[in-house]
Amino acid sequence: MKILKIDHLGVAVKSIDAGKNFWTDVLGLRFEGTETVAEQKVTTAFFPVGESEVELLESTAPDGPIAKYLEKRGEGIQHIAFRVADIEEALAELKAKGIQLIDEKPRKGAGGAKIAFLHPKATSGVLVELCERS
Ligand code: ZN
Repeated sequence: MKILKIDHLGVAVKSIDAGKNFWTDVLGLRFEGTETVAEQKVTTAFFPVGESEVELLESTAPDGPIAKYLEKRGEGIQHIAFRVADIEEALAELKAKGIQLIDEKPRKGAGGAKIAFLHPKATSGVLVELCERS
């Protein structure tokens, strides 16, 4: 498995509109607009930081994963995403190493990326996303 870099940090927020001012007006990061990923019941907003990005995540439905996260833990860092060269290969390797996966197969993420999550039980409580972009 080849990890290329930290692709982004995912931050759960109640509202992108309300939450984005810190990242733009205070930190001076560029706001690149929002994208809704319907199957994950989430709207995302990306803010490039050097070679990585901050991703704000707002739920689009009360039963979505971000809504559930906010209910349990409130706003904050929800996941860390590593960019990998080959996500299928990475998942096969992790599975062979006995790592519990949330996604056995990649699904579609924002920006046309292929993404998959590892189970926090296998990672000391950190929700880890793998992501491959072409
Ligand atoms: Zn993400």
